[in-house]
Amino acid sequence: MSRVQLDHIAKAYGNGPRVIRDVNLDIQDKEFVVLVGPSGCGKSTLLRMIAGLEAITDGTLLIGDRRVNDVPPNERDIAMVFQNYALYPHMTVYENMAFGLKLRNMPKTEIKDRVTAAARLLEIENLLDRKPKDMSGGQRQRVAIGRAIVRNPQVFLFDEPLSNLDAKLRGQMRIELQKLHRDLQATMIYVTHDQIEAMTLGNRIVVLRNGDVQQFDTPITLYNQP
Ligand code: ADP
Ligand code: ADP
Repeated sequence: MSRVQLDHIAKAYGNGPRVIRDVNLDIQDKEFVVLVGPSGCGKSTLLRMIAGLEAITDGTLLIGDRRVNDVPPNERDIAMVFQNYALYPHMTVYENMAFGLKLRNMPKTEIKDRVTAAARLLEIENLLDRKPKDMSGGQRQRVAIGRAIVRNPQVFLFDEPLSNLDAKLRGQMRIELQKLHRDLQATMIYVTHDQIEAMTLGNRIVVLRNGDVQQFDTPITLYNQP
């Protein structure tokens, strides 16, 4: 079960003002939820709190049935994909994808099985021995997604994963992300400022404004509003 519940979540950085004020969201198991809103409204902060990369100032965060406010990122059942890929430059694609699993002392055969399966899904089997510098932006982003997939998480978090790609590739990756969501049957929470991405990917869309949820609805409902 990978329902994600945010109950009266708030965030202030240091002694500053609350940049997330009082967010209540109930994200269903296997749902694809997209967070949108103007720059600075708190999308990234919200995602990073779900990931465990930022402390929660107030409220309760549940992943599955577990309160995870104080659970470190690697002990949450999540994997995050970053905009800038965050690959290790000195490692090959295989090593990049295997690294997190090695840290968990997973047996080598299982690591190999998982990396191979993810590489097949993302059609990067022929790139396993390459280093990031010898690949295109789209290929690097696939590796970054692959690194999340091998962890086999219940929840995927995406922070503007396509915004460094050109328009054609973005279109292609949108379709692949939809397919991935179908294949993996995981909950996905996805931050973007791209309207088309939000409309095509989201089962539901969260519109954030000044640290509050302005709307949380299906794309068709949002689209039909005056
Ligand atoms: P978005 O992702 O929607 O652009 P952010 O979550 O990055 O919004 O930022 C929300 C607010 O929090 C902004 O006012 C931003 O300046 C502030 N903020 C983000 N990160 C920090 C930080 N590390 N320290 C202080 N303020 C921050
Ligand atoms: P180490 O060198 O620390 O033992 P590696 O990550 O180099 O670990 O290799 C671990 C396992 O993964 C080995 O069994 C190796 O055969 C396999 N492996 C490494 N690179 C690839 C690759 N490009 N394609 C398939 N299997 C690989």
